[in-house]
Amino acid sequence: MKHSSDVVSALPRREVPCYLCGRDDPALVFRQEPYRVVRCRGCGLVYTLPRLSPEELLAMYQTAYWTSAQAKDFGYTDYLRDRDLYLRTYRLRRELITRRKPRPGRVLEVGSAAGFFLAVMQEIGWECHGVELSRSMAETSRELFGFEHVQAGTLADASFEPRSFDVVAFWDVIEHLEDPAWHLARARALLKDDGLLVLETQNVESRFARLMGRRWQHYKMAEHLYHFAPATLEKLLARAGYVIEENTPRRGGKKVSIDFMVERIGRIHPLLSALCRPLRLIGRVALYVNLFDEMIVVARKGPQ
Ligand SMILES: [Zn+2]
Repeated sequence: MKHSSDVVSALPRREVPCYLCGRDDPALVFRQEPYRVVRCRGCGLVYTLPRLSPEELLAMYQTAYWTSAQAKDFGYTDYLRDRDLYLRTYRLRRELITRRKPRPGRVLEVGSAAGFFLAVMQEIGWECHGVELSRSMAETSRELFGFEHVQAGTLADASFEPRSFDVVAFWDVIEHLEDPAWHLARARALLKDDGLLVLETQNVESRFARLMGRRWQHYKMAEHLYHFAPATLEKLLARAGYVIEENTPRRGGKKVSIDFMVERIGRIHPLLSALCRPLRLIGRVALYVNLFDEMIVVARKGPQ
């Protein structure tokens, strides 16, 4: 398997039609060689072309993804170092679930990474299951939190009892998947009839995304294959057999460090980053930042 940094420098070659409607003459949104962000003229889905091979896409999520020196384009700067911030972020989001399901049950997270979301569910007595593509991250989560049911691999490799989960979560995952409807439909089969799907993905039609244009932080060309908006996300979820109960940008924020803020501000203009640099003396202080450019969705099983 290739090393992740080789994957980022690999040349994407695949042109694909619109995932949602099959139309094949998209309008150009902008170009960032060798990639293009395009919008389907039929259904409005925004997606990135061309695409790496399926093998290269899989290889991207191994170790180097989680400590990327190029996080602007690919991966995370240092995912594990930000542990406390992620735990605090997920404690806020957890309320979306506990408000509807006050009693502990069984939760599955697809793309469970270092297990931060599962850890906050475990804190309140839930039985936690996870599937994580990166073998080392799956192992890390088992070491950090003692999980017994986190498997390395994909949802297709994993074996779970049908209708056995109260909640299935996809945090920042569906935009990375070539076939998100398949994964969501698979999750539907694993959910109990009154089960909840919770997911987060970025909103390409949000005010902040429009303001930032091509500098929007979610245009990670190699890894974010799709940029959903409320209408295209609704279409995707309907195809997979769900009805949306809530779609909100609230709780879409993240607890972040000042260091992170300075890095993000630097993307707007390098001079702004220089002006903010003295703030790094208090770099570990956490702020809650919500740019209202995420969609946090709670959905239930609909007719299929
Ligand atoms: Zn389309």
